[in-house]
Amino acid sequence: MKCSSDGVFTKGELVPYGPIELNPAAAVLNYGQGLLEGLRAHRKEDGSVVVFRPKENALRMRIGADRLCMPAPSVEQFLSAVKQTILANKRWVPPTGKGSLYIRPLLIGSGAMLGVAPAPEYTFVVYVCPVGHYFKDGLSPISLLTEEEYHRAAPGGTGDIKTIGNYASVVSAQRRAKEKGHSDVLYLDPVHKKFVEEVSSCNILMVKDNVISTPLLTGTILPGITRRSIIEIAQNLGIQVEERLIAIDEFLDADEVFCTGTAVVLSPVGSIVYHGRR
Ligand code: PMP
Repeated sequence: MKCSSDGVFTKGELVPYGPIELNPAAAVLNYGQGLLEGLRAHRKEDGSVVVFRPKENALRMRIGADRLCMPAPSVEQFLSAVKQTILANKRWVPPTGKGSLYIRPLLIGSGAMLGVAPAPEYTFVVYVCPVGHYFKDGLSPISLLTEEEYHRAAPGGTGDIKTIGNYASVVSAQRRAKEKGHSDVLYLDPVHKKFVEEVSSCNILMVKDNVISTPLLTGTILPGITRRSIIEIAQNLGIQVEERLIAIDEFLDADEVFCTGTAVVLSPVGSIVYHGRR
């Protein structure tokens, strides 16, 4: 789907997967004016395909678009594009227990813009890919390395929206953690450098004395849809849930820690390495 600065998206069409053409001066390539989303389609026992809370992804993209001065597809347009793409690729949804179909919507400033300003044209694309587990050992407990040099997002920046630039900042820390044998990176807050934020592509929660606690969304953390779902499910079950600032020491002393996200689903954390522990 395309959109010019009038904010009206074209109807869109299904095209075979392949490269898309972009002007070298496209705003997304030069100034990072782009958003992504991630959803999963699962096949149920009876063969039907379900998608986890897609409306929440559509709404999150609209919030991000507002922040980046981009027009966004309406919730209906987003859901229809996701649905059409899944239906066209239904045969790629793995059977139950063998993975799922990952769905990646992208909204990019595709118009040429030499100079920092909103692009004159936007493109909304949805593509899919069958996936298995995110971490190499499946749902076995993961190991997190606490990052003490870099931060994922800056205060007043774009850490609370799903913009492409947020991921560029985590690549080197993630590579370093993996080279040391860890599954991923645990980020601390950029001001006090002691409150836990999140992992490169998932949120983090802990259990202590039957209370679930998770870092407060202070603006540098992505409001995960899986995180919100876990909070709601736990509260419906009568489990106490707290959203608050949580120092790394508390996480190290927790009874259980787990990560949530579309890609990681719900992954238990087996160890957290933190060299700054006093
Ligand atoms: N934090 C970050 C940085 C992420 O990339 C993701 C994945 N979208 C999450 C948290 C988890 O969000 P969700 O549950 O919506 O997938």
